[in-house]
Amino acid sequence: MSGPTVCLGFDFDAVSIWIHAYDAADSPTTLSRGEYGAEVAVPRLLDCLDRLGVPATFFTPGHTVDSFPERVKEVHERGHDVQHHGWSHRHPGSFESRAAERADVVRGIESIEDAIGETPTGYRSPAWDFSAHTLDVLRELGFEWDSSQMGHDFRPYYLRTGREAPTDGAYDPGIETEILELPVSWHRDDWPALQYVPDASGRTAPDEPGVFDAWREQFEWMCERVDDGVFSLTFHPQVVGQPPRLRYLESLVAELRATPSVEFETFDRVAARF
Ligand SMILES: [Zn+2]
Repeated sequence: MSGPTVCLGFDFDAVSIWIHAYDAADSPTTLSRGEYGAEVAVPRLLDCLDRLGVPATFFTPGHTVDSFPERVKEVHERGHDVQHHGWSHRHPGSFESRAAERADVVRGIESIEDAIGETPTGYRSPAWDFSAHTLDVLRELGFEWDSSQMGHDFRPYYLRTGREAPTDGAYDPGIETEILELPVSWHRDDWPALQYVPDASGRTAPDEPGVFDAWREQFEWMCERVDDGVFSLTFHPQVVGQPPRLRYLESLVAELRATPSVEFETFDRVAARF
Protein backbone atom coordinates (compact mmCIF):
# COMPACT_ATOMS: atom_id res chain seq x y z
CA MET A 1 0.00 0.00 0.00
CA SER A 2 1.10 3.54 -0.52
CA GLY A 3 -0.81 6.64 0.41
CA PRO A 4 -3.95 6.92 2.48
CA THR A 5 -6.85 4.48 2.10
CA VAL A 6 -10.47 5.23 2.95
CA CYS A 7 -12.89 2.44 3.88
CA LEU A 8 -16.57 3.33 4.01
CA GLY A 9 -18.46 0.84 6.18
CA PHE A 10 -22.25 0.76 6.40
CA ASP A 11 -23.73 -1.35 9.18
CA PHE A 12 -26.97 -2.38 7.49
CA ASP A 13 -28.78 -3.27 10.70
CA ALA A 14 -32.33 -2.39 9.54
CA VAL A 15 -34.73 -3.68 12.21
CA SER A 16 -32.34 -6.22 13.74
CA ILE A 17 -30.62 -3.67 15.97
CA TRP A 18 -33.94 -2.61 17.49
CA ILE A 19 -35.03 -6.20 18.14
CA HIS A 20 -31.76 -7.57 19.44
CA ALA A 21 -29.92 -4.61 20.95
CA TYR A 22 -32.77 -2.39 22.14
CA ASP A 23 -35.37 -5.04 23.03
CA ALA A 24 -38.01 -3.20 21.00
CA ALA A 25 -39.67 -6.13 19.18
CA ASP A 26 -43.06 -4.95 20.49
CA SER A 27 -42.69 -1.36 19.30
CA PRO A 28 -44.05 -0.78 15.77
CA THR A 29 -42.68 2.74 15.65
CA THR A 30 -39.22 1.67 16.69
CA LEU A 31 -39.20 -1.19 14.18
CA SER A 32 -40.32 1.23 11.48
CA ARG A 33 -37.06 3.15 11.98
CA GLY A 34 -35.29 0.02 10.75
CA GLU A 35 -37.70 -0.35 7.83
CA TYR A 36 -36.85 3.24 6.91
CA GLY A 37 -33.19 2.24 6.76
CA ALA A 38 -33.81 -0.59 4.33
CA GLU A 39 -36.56 0.90 2.21
CA VAL A 40 -35.84 4.62 2.14
CA ALA A 41 -32.25 5.26 3.19
CA VAL A 42 -30.38 2.48 1.36
CA PRO A 43 -31.73 3.38 -2.11
CA ARG A 44 -30.72 7.01 -1.55
CA LEU A 45 -27.36 5.91 -0.25
CA LEU A 46 -26.72 3.67 -3.26
CA ASP A 47 -27.50 6.59 -5.58
CA CYS A 48 -25.11 8.75 -3.57
CA LEU A 49 -22.32 6.13 -3.82
CA ASP A 50 -22.99 5.84 -7.57
CA ARG A 51 -22.52 9.58 -7.97
CA LEU A 52 -19.30 9.44 -5.99
CA GLY A 53 -18.04 6.32 -7.78
CA VAL A 54 -16.63 4.75 -4.62
CA PRO A 55 -17.03 1.18 -3.30
CA ALA A 56 -18.36 0.49 0.19
CA THR A 57 -18.69 -2.43 2.56
CA PHE A 58 -22.11 -3.29 3.98
CA PHE A 59 -21.84 -5.23 7.24
CA THR A 60 -25.20 -6.96 7.11
CA PRO A 61 -26.83 -9.16 9.77
CA GLY A 62 -28.41 -12.36 8.42
CA HIS A 63 -31.65 -11.05 9.90
CA THR A 64 -31.48 -8.09 7.48
CA VAL A 65 -30.57 -10.39 4.58
CA ASP A 66 -33.54 -12.65 5.28
CA SER A 67 -35.92 -9.73 5.88
CA PHE A 68 -34.91 -7.54 2.92
CA PRO A 69 -33.26 -9.96 0.45
CA GLU A 70 -33.93 -7.90 -2.65
CA ARG A 71 -32.33 -4.82 -1.09
CA VAL A 72 -29.23 -6.78 -0.09
CA LYS A 73 -28.97 -8.24 -3.60
CA GLU A 74 -29.22 -4.72 -4.99
CA VAL A 75 -26.37 -3.56 -2.73
CA HIS A 76 -24.23 -6.40 -4.08
CA GLU A 77 -25.26 -5.91 -7.71
CA ARG A 78 -24.39 -2.22 -7.54
CA GLY A 79 -20.79 -3.09 -6.75
CA HIS A 80 -20.54 -3.09 -2.97
CA ASP A 81 -19.24 -5.75 -0.65
CA VAL A 82 -21.57 -7.58 1.77
CA GLN A 83 -19.87 -8.89 4.90
CA HIS A 84 -20.86 -10.64 8.13
CA HIS A 85 -22.48 -8.81 11.05
CA GLY A 86 -24.00 -11.72 12.99
CA TRP A 87 -27.30 -13.34 12.05
CA SER A 88 -29.07 -11.73 14.93
CA HIS A 89 -27.76 -8.40 16.17
CA ARG A 90 -26.98 -9.82 19.61
CA HIS A 91 -23.90 -9.15 21.70
CA PRO A 92 -21.67 -12.22 21.26
CA GLY A 93 -21.44 -12.47 25.03
CA SER A 94 -25.23 -12.79 25.34
CA PHE A 95 -25.40 -16.30 23.90
CA GLU A 96 -25.96 -19.08 26.40
CA SER A 97 -23.12 -21.19 25.01
CA ARG A 98 -20.27 -21.32 22.50
CA ALA A 99 -22.42 -23.61 20.36
CA ALA A 100 -25.27 -21.08 20.30
CA GLU A 101 -22.93 -18.26 19.31
CA ARG A 102 -21.35 -20.42 16.61
CA ALA A 103 -24.80 -21.39 15.26
CA ASP A 104 -25.72 -17.70 14.92
CA VAL A 105 -22.51 -16.98 12.99
CA VAL A 106 -23.07 -20.01 10.73
CA ARG A 107 -26.66 -18.92 10.08
CA GLY A 108 -25.39 -15.47 9.10
CA ILE A 109 -22.94 -17.00 6.62
CA GLU A 110 -25.72 -19.10 5.09
CA SER A 111 -28.04 -16.10 4.73
CA ILE A 112 -25.40 -14.14 2.81
CA GLU A 113 -24.47 -17.15 0.66
CA ASP A 114 -28.12 -17.77 -0.20
CA ALA A 115 -28.73 -14.12 -1.13
CA ILE A 116 -25.64 -13.21 -3.14
CA GLY A 117 -23.81 -16.48 -3.75
CA GLU A 118 -20.64 -15.37 -1.96
CA THR A 119 -19.12 -16.41 1.35
CA PRO A 120 -18.19 -13.56 3.69
CA THR A 121 -14.49 -13.31 4.51
CA GLY A 122 -14.84 -10.71 7.26
CA TYR A 123 -16.80 -10.27 10.46
CA ARG A 124 -17.98 -7.23 12.38
CA SER A 125 -19.40 -7.96 15.80
CA PRO A 126 -22.89 -6.46 16.27
CA ALA A 127 -21.68 -5.09 19.60
CA TRP A 128 -18.14 -4.23 18.47
CA ASP A 129 -17.11 -6.71 21.12
CA PHE A 130 -16.30 -10.41 21.44
CA SER A 131 -17.29 -13.14 23.85
CA ALA A 132 -14.64 -15.49 25.22
CA HIS A 133 -15.36 -17.73 22.20
CA THR A 134 -15.77 -15.33 19.27
CA LEU A 135 -12.18 -15.33 18.04
CA ASP A 136 -12.02 -19.15 18.14
CA VAL A 137 -15.32 -19.39 16.28
CA LEU A 138 -14.11 -17.00 13.56
CA ARG A 139 -10.87 -18.96 13.12
CA GLU A 140 -12.73 -22.26 13.01
CA LEU A 141 -15.13 -20.97 10.34
CA GLY A 142 -12.35 -19.61 8.13
CA PHE A 143 -12.81 -15.88 8.52
CA GLU A 144 -9.78 -13.86 7.39
CA TRP A 145 -10.41 -10.55 9.10
CA ASP A 146 -12.48 -8.73 11.68
CA SER A 147 -13.54 -5.13 12.13
CA SER A 148 -14.76 -4.71 15.72
CA GLN A 149 -11.83 -3.77 17.93
CA MET A 150 -9.90 -0.63 18.75
CA GLY A 151 -6.22 -1.48 19.27
CA HIS A 152 -5.11 1.07 16.69
CA ASP A 153 -6.76 3.99 14.96
CA PHE A 154 -5.36 4.00 11.43
CA ARG A 155 -3.44 0.74 11.02
CA PRO A 156 -4.60 -2.86 10.59
CA TYR A 157 -3.06 -5.34 13.03
CA TYR A 158 -3.39 -8.99 13.97
CA LEU A 159 -5.79 -10.05 16.72
CA ARG A 160 -4.39 -11.88 19.74
CA THR A 161 -5.70 -14.93 21.54
CA GLY A 162 -5.29 -15.93 25.16
CA ARG A 163 -5.69 -12.44 26.58
CA GLU A 164 -5.67 -12.30 30.40
CA ALA A 165 -6.85 -9.26 32.34
CA PRO A 166 -6.71 -10.24 36.02
CA THR A 167 -7.88 -7.60 38.48
CA ASP A 168 -4.95 -8.41 40.76
CA GLY A 169 -2.16 -8.84 38.22
CA ALA A 170 -0.56 -7.45 35.08
CA TYR A 171 -2.37 -7.44 31.77
CA ASP A 172 -1.33 -10.12 29.27
CA PRO A 173 -2.38 -9.30 25.67
CA GLY A 174 -1.91 -12.91 24.49
CA ILE A 175 -0.34 -14.14 21.27
CA GLU A 176 -0.95 -13.05 17.71
CA THR A 177 -3.32 -14.97 15.44
CA GLU A 178 -3.72 -14.92 11.66
CA ILE A 179 -6.98 -12.90 11.89
CA LEU A 180 -6.40 -9.35 10.67
CA GLU A 181 -8.13 -6.53 12.51
CA LEU A 182 -9.33 -3.46 10.61
CA PRO A 183 -10.06 -1.33 13.65
CA VAL A 184 -13.18 0.74 14.32
CA SER A 185 -13.72 3.76 16.54
CA TRP A 186 -16.70 5.27 18.36
CA HIS A 187 -15.23 8.59 17.19
CA ARG A 188 -15.80 7.65 13.56
CA ASP A 189 -19.32 6.21 13.89
CA ASP A 190 -22.55 8.03 13.06
CA TRP A 191 -24.68 6.15 15.63
CA PRO A 192 -23.40 7.73 18.86
CA ALA A 193 -23.00 11.12 17.19
CA LEU A 194 -26.26 11.38 15.30
CA GLN A 195 -28.82 8.77 16.34
CA TYR A 196 -31.50 9.74 18.82
CA VAL A 197 -32.65 6.88 21.05
CA PRO A 198 -35.42 7.78 23.53
CA ASP A 199 -34.80 6.68 27.09
CA ALA A 200 -31.17 5.88 26.28
CA SER A 201 -28.48 8.50 26.20
CA GLY A 202 -30.59 10.70 23.95
CA ARG A 203 -27.43 11.97 22.31
CA THR A 204 -27.71 13.98 19.14
CA ALA A 205 -25.33 16.50 17.72
CA PRO A 206 -26.53 20.11 17.72
CA ASP A 207 -24.03 20.76 14.95
CA GLU A 208 -24.48 17.97 12.43
CA PRO A 209 -22.10 19.36 9.78
CA GLY A 210 -19.56 19.64 12.62
CA VAL A 211 -19.59 15.85 13.02
CA PHE A 212 -18.52 15.46 9.40
CA ASP A 213 -16.00 18.30 9.80
CA ALA A 214 -14.42 16.39 12.70
CA TRP A 215 -13.98 13.34 10.47
CA ARG A 216 -12.37 15.54 7.82
CA GLU A 217 -9.94 16.83 10.47
CA GLN A 218 -9.14 13.30 11.63
CA PHE A 219 -8.40 12.26 8.06
CA GLU A 220 -6.07 15.23 7.58
CA TRP A 221 -4.29 14.36 10.82
CA MET A 222 -3.83 10.78 9.62
CA CYS A 223 -2.46 11.89 6.26
CA GLU A 224 0.07 14.15 7.97
CA ARG A 225 1.32 11.67 10.56
CA VAL A 226 0.58 8.06 9.59
CA ASP A 227 2.20 6.50 6.53
CA ASP A 228 -0.24 4.42 4.48
CA GLY A 229 -3.01 4.96 7.02
CA VAL A 230 -6.40 3.31 6.68
CA PHE A 231 -9.25 5.68 7.50
CA SER A 232 -12.35 3.68 8.37
CA LEU A 233 -15.73 5.35 8.86
CA THR A 234 -18.85 3.62 10.17
CA PHE A 235 -22.31 4.66 9.07
CA HIS A 236 -25.79 3.20 9.49
CA PRO A 237 -28.15 3.78 6.55
CA GLN A 238 -31.03 4.64 8.91
CA VAL A 239 -28.84 7.32 10.52
CA VAL A 240 -26.85 8.86 7.67
CA GLY A 241 -29.86 8.58 5.34
CA GLN A 242 -31.79 11.19 7.36
CA PRO A 243 -31.84 14.45 5.38
CA PRO A 244 -29.70 16.28 4.73
CA ARG A 245 -26.89 14.11 6.06
CA LEU A 246 -26.18 12.39 2.73
CA ARG A 247 -25.29 15.85 1.44
CA TYR A 248 -22.66 16.13 4.19
CA LEU A 249 -21.43 12.62 3.44
CA GLU A 250 -21.19 13.37 -0.26
CA SER A 251 -19.15 16.52 0.24
CA LEU A 252 -16.89 14.81 2.79
CA VAL A 253 -16.19 11.90 0.45
CA ALA A 254 -15.63 14.23 -2.49
CA GLU A 255 -13.04 16.13 -0.45
CA LEU A 256 -11.25 13.00 0.76
CA ARG A 257 -11.23 11.67 -2.79
CA ALA A 258 -9.41 14.82 -3.94
CA THR A 259 -6.45 13.98 -1.67
CA PRO A 260 -3.35 13.03 -3.69
CA SER A 261 -2.81 9.24 -3.96
CA VAL A 262 -5.88 8.39 -1.85
CA GLU A 263 -7.63 5.07 -2.57
CA PHE A 264 -11.17 4.11 -1.64
CA GLU A 265 -11.31 0.38 -0.96
CA THR A 266 -13.59 -2.22 0.54
CA PHE A 267 -12.44 -3.71 3.83
CA ASP A 268 -11.93 -7.05 2.13
CA ARG A 269 -9.57 -5.57 -0.45
CA VAL A 270 -7.53 -3.84 2.24
CA ALA A 271 -7.31 -7.11 4.18
CA ALA A 272 -6.21 -8.93 1.02
CA ARG A 273 -3.49 -6.34 0.32
CA PHE A 274 -2.26 -6.47 3.89
ZN1 LIG B 1 -24.89 -3.18 13.73
